Amino acid sequence: MATAQSQVEESKRGLVVKIGVAVLAILGAGYFAFLRGNPENEQLDTPESAAPYACRSCGHGMLVTPAEFDRLLQQGAMGADGAERGRSALRCPKCQKMAIRRGVRCPKDGQIFLPVKDGKTVLCPQCKWRPPENY
Ligand SMILES: [Zn+2]
Ligand SMILES: [Zn+2]
Repeated sequence: MATAQSQVEESKRGLVVKIGVAVLAILGAGYFAFLRGNPENEQLDTPESAAPYACRSCGHGMLVTPAEFDRLLQQGAMGADGAERGRSALRCPKCQKMAIRRGVRCPKDGQIFLPVKDGKTVLCPQCKWRPPENY
């Protein structure tokens, strides 16, 4: 009796260990995917990886790749007012104001602009394309 009882206990413990190993394996895979994915993203310097940014002051639009963004940060082109509402700000190459914000790029004509002004959605200045609400 005592032997059978301890065998049951033994197999239960084995199952718990197996589940533990499986959970660790899943967590480990996710962790490594995260580690591998991040540095690659930061070094991207291809036209496809570029994101649209536009000046809130003069309307100047430009595409910035993640690598370019890093370079601008190192050059000190990041403004103190970048902390405003948790968003980053870059210096505008045209008007020199710290007013560059993440913008949108019109899929029809490539116009880069800020999709929201004074809480209202801004349409593309060229073709009146409406940016998605979640920007
Ligand atoms: Zn500007
Ligand atoms: Zn447009």
